[in-house]
Amino acid sequence: MIDSEKVNRYRRSYYPMFIDGEWVDAADGNRYTVYNPATGEPLAEVARAGRADIDRALQAARLAFEHGKWRHFSVLRRARVLNRIAEIMRERFDELVELEILNTGKTLFAAQGQIMQAIEDFEFYAGAIVGHRGHVNNMPSGFFNYTQREPVGVCAQIVPWNYPLMMAAWKIAPAIAAGCSVVVKPATLTPVTALVLAEIATEAGVPKGVVNVVPGSGRDVGDYLVTHPEVDKIAFTGSTPVGRHIMELASRSLKKVTLELGGKSPSLIFDDADLDAAVDGSVFGIFYNTGQSCEARSRIYVQRSVYDAFMARFVEKAKKLKLGNPFDPETHVGAVISREQVDVIDGYVRSALEDGAQAVLGGGEVRVPGFEGGYWYAPTILVDVHHGMKAVQEEIFGPVVTVMPFDTEDEAVALANDTMYGLAAAVWTKDGARAKRMADRIRAGIVLVNTPFSAFPGMPFGGTKQSGFGRELGIEALDLYTEVKSVLMYYGTKPLNPFKL
Ligand code: NAD
Repeated sequence: MIDSEKVNRYRRSYYPMFIDGEWVDAADGNRYTVYNPATGEPLAEVARAGRADIDRALQAARLAFEHGKWRHFSVLRRARVLNRIAEIMRERFDELVELEILNTGKTLFAAQGQIMQAIEDFEFYAGAIVGHRGHVNNMPSGFFNYTQREPVGVCAQIVPWNYPLMMAAWKIAPAIAAGCSVVVKPATLTPVTALVLAEIATEAGVPKGVVNVVPGSGRDVGDYLVTHPEVDKIAFTGSTPVGRHIMELASRSLKKVTLELGGKSPSLIFDDADLDAAVDGSVFGIFYNTGQSCEARSRIYVQRSVYDAFMARFVEKAKKLKLGNPFDPETHVGAVISREQVDVIDGYVRSALEDGAQAVLGGGEVRVPGFEGGYWYAPTILVDVHHGMKAVQEEIFGPVVTVMPFDTEDEAVALANDTMYGLAAAVWTKDGARAKRMADRIRAGIVLVNTPFSAFPGMPFGGTKQSGFGRELGIEALDLYTEVKSVLMYYGTKPLNPFKL
């Protein structure tokens, strides 16, 4: 359970921005209120960044990058600081978990796992940066070429609301490990834990200006941030339409961009699968985090011979899901992030039902006793769907899953690949050769075989097609926060005179 006495030592009713190693108000004094989606009640006031604040944060980041010490520290020293960030996060674990729950309505189970992963990200990159190096390449006689990895520079990092602290950690940890400076813009609705993380980084010994966090609206300051001349790289996680818009803006000044976007990930259940594992994994795969996961497995395809057996157990298990107090360790499904998101989810479900789908579970908003002011949607299972439906093609980002039968491997692959997205896919089978064939043929950045889990610090995470490009986590993320410099040296005794002058 959460130790409230410890947590209350840190709680604030107003969170300013974090720029240049300090808590600061917005230049124009603007603030806004963030809410607890489980109750609909106000949680805290937060400073709202305007253009002057973006300028200030980017100047601090630029100064820290060009004239500061951080990128010149030895990798071992940077690694020590990253490990210290992780240590302080462990000390303030309860506070981070509580704040994340209060600002998102997610469950204790989900928040604890995500904050733990955020901590492990810092530990992973503390280790990874030490072994991250260039190469010596074979050259003609007399020539010596080596490559070295150098930090990309000042990075604008834009984070969504579904995993506020974990997504911030996915971005900040590799960037600062590489020696970059960052300006993080958390999602408007969920800025609190990223702000606390900036404070922790400073306490751990990250020099001022290296980590800055500016809450505010993407619509108001997003374009200004991503077109700003002081930004060298943009790392964006969010929806596909906003990702497209950012890429267009970034192309004007050729900023480096990585885009982690939406998904509509399939789960393929073959007749030789361990059906109990496939059922449990499929319930978790869609309803974890209230379905608000980019890699939520929101389309299930079941081989026809086991379809009825799967459905009976899937519906029975999903009926057991408990919605309720997010702080209760027994609660499985938390609140939806906002009233607007409930309406979006319901719009998809209504449209599918009008098109002939059946809801064998859920299908609407739900009233949770004690949490009547909050935003809740029933875990929903839709059958009798067809592949052209919006609910099958588009990302709903809520606790809604569609289920369809298939007959052959070829059909399963065709269905899995038939959306514009390509983030993740799950395959449930005991046949290793079939698993390998599926992993080869599915167009997705991540294929999960017989597992509902989809992210670990060392495993590259990201998509293909309209799910974006670039990777987070793993050594791959470190590569993307560095540039390769190639140094060519001549060491022959005879001076070179190619024009024979
Ligand atoms: P969103 O695209 O609405 O917002 C994401 C972030 O972008 C927010 O911080 C927002 O304020 C900001 N933003 C909005 N307009 C902007 C602009 N013009 N310029 C710059 N920034 C702008 O997404 P969301 O609703 O916060 O998050 C949900 C989406 O994120 C889903 O589509 C989900 O799939 C995706 N997501 C993807 C991954 C992944 O790794 N692929 C992970 C988590 C979430």
